Formats: sequence, C-alpha cells, structure tokens
Amino acid sequence: MANKKQQLDYKNNCCRHCGRNVKEMVEEFGTFNRIFEFNHVVPSLKHPNYDNLIRRTISTEQLDELDKCILLCKICHGILHAQNIELKCLLKVDVGDKSITQDLVGQGIINKKEKKLKFMTNQKILVVPYLLQLDSNEPEIIFGKDLEENNPMLSKIFKVSGYDKCRILDFRNGEELFSIRRNNNTAQLKQKIKFPYFQYELEADDKNVKYVWIRNGIGLTKNGEVFRDREITGTLII
Ligand SMILES: [Zn+2]
Repeated sequence: MANKKQQLDYKNNCCRHCGRNVKEMVEEFGTFNRIFEFNHVVPSLKHPNYDNLIRRTISTEQLDELDKCILLCKICHGILHAQNIELKCLLKVDVGDKSITQDLVGQGIINKKEKKLKFMTNQKILVVPYLLQLDSNEPEIIFGKDLEENNPMLSKIFKVSGYDKCRILDFRNGEELFSIRRNNNTAQLKQKIKFPYFQYELEADDKNVKYVWIRNGIGLTKNGEVFRDREITGTLII
C-alpha cells in the first residue's frame, strides 16, 4: 500500500500555491488526509492507470508519475481547475558571458485582490548555474541544463578526456556537490543528495530498507524514509 506521507514529503510537504504545510495540518488537526492532492500539470500525460499506481507501494513508475505533478491543497486545487489557466513561461538567466533559456509549461492561479498571478510548473528548473572544475583547472560555469543533457561524468572525464578529477560546485558559495576521482580502473564518486542531478537506484544491504532511490535532490527508501541532507559515496568500475 502507498505511503502517502512519503509521497507528500517527496513533493516538499506543502501546497505549491498557498504554502499550506503538511506538518502544520497534522499539528493543528491531527491529519493530512483529504487536504492535499497531486495535480498533473499536463493532464494528457497522466498515467492511464493512475488511481491504482498511486495507491501501490513506492516504485520508480510511481515516482515518475509524481514528477508530473505539483502538490496542492484541496482549496487551491479547486481554484486552479475553476480558473483553468494554462501558461508558458520563458526563463532567461545571464551569468558572466554565459546565457541560458528554458521554456516552461505550467498552470496559473490569479489572485484578483492582490493583483497577482502565480505560475506553477512541475518541470525541474535547469537554468541554475554551477561551477565545473576539471582537475585543478579554473572552474567554468555550467547550468543544470548541461547536466541533464550531457552527463559530464561520462562524456568529459572518461570518454573524451584524460581528466582524473571532476568537481561540481555550488555557484554561490563553492560548496562541493558532486565529485568523481579516477584511480586506475575505478572511480570514487561522492554526491550530496540535495544535488538534483544523476539519478540512482540502489539495492540496500539493510533488509528493512531494501531499495533506495536518489533523485531530484531527495533520497527515498522502500520502507518510507525520505532524506535530503546526506551524501552518497561509491566506487565505480571504469
Ligand atoms: Zn493551497
């Protein structure tokens, strides 16, 4: 049976529109049931067997389905469908001499009193800048889009070049989010789970945990855990 608490946690535990929070609802009313709903941003992409899929235990297919959705409280979900506003948005970011754009498809809610339109999308924002450092070279600016489309771990380090070390750093504070170091025919990999690229599915040694998904900056286990502030390490045979 599905673990609704874990599903809500995967979607950040709050209504994307008004911010109503799962934890506060439990504190105030003792339940989160019947308050939060998953809304498909592009309804035509909804799984044909969605009702069954979402009630089953956690699976890759279920998480893929949740990625198509935003979490809304029941009131905001009702308003969204009543207003029925579909939107497209072009994001453009300039950093140094680099520039990037991303097309987003989403839905909106208009608040007439506050004269505000809130745009909401399930898409991952890919215009976020990072620093890529190869060996001891000067770090270069890359964007999330580069990481989605062109995995630097494979293409830049092991296939194309002779680099031995690759680090991806937070653009703002230089924090290391990902690193891989070549060591003969193996490579040591280290990644902060909050770094939302490169998905992993791992069989766990611990019988209670069984299976772990690392994706979109979040770690989930088959037994219902959700975590964000950890790091994964591993050895790859190359
Ligand atoms: Zn809401």
